[in-house]
Amino acid sequence: MVQIQRTCLHCGKPIQGRLDKKFCDDSCRNTYNNQQNADNVNLIRRINHALKKNRNILQTLIPQGEELVKIPKDKLIREGFDLKFFTHVYQNKKGSLYHYCYDYGYLELEGDWFLIVKGK
Ligand SMILES: [Zn+2]
Repeated sequence: MVQIQRTCLHCGKPIQGRLDKKFCDDSCRNTYNNQQNADNVNLIRRINHALKKNRNILQTLIPQGEELVKIPKDKLIREGFDLKFFTHVYQNKKGSLYHYCYDYGYLELEGDWFLIVKGK
């Protein structure tokens, strides 16, 4: 009979007993689960922060009283904008795909230019 040695997901010590056991005891399970939850909370917090930062950058780029502005991509990146994070996308009838960070969006134009828009 082949014995597979299982180890605790938290502390890594060998586990005795039932085959489906993943932890040595409740303490290891609780610590592990708490750590997982903390990691998830931190991840969500980081993403929320990046989204809000993106939104604020788009907002400040549009001049007062205007609804849109055209800017070069490197300026957007220099401001700290992170293209990985957006809340949703919107495709207009012409097929242009806008990426939104909440109520502000952008459209990638030719030649590394971006159109920044307020609202839809
Ligand atoms: Zn353990």
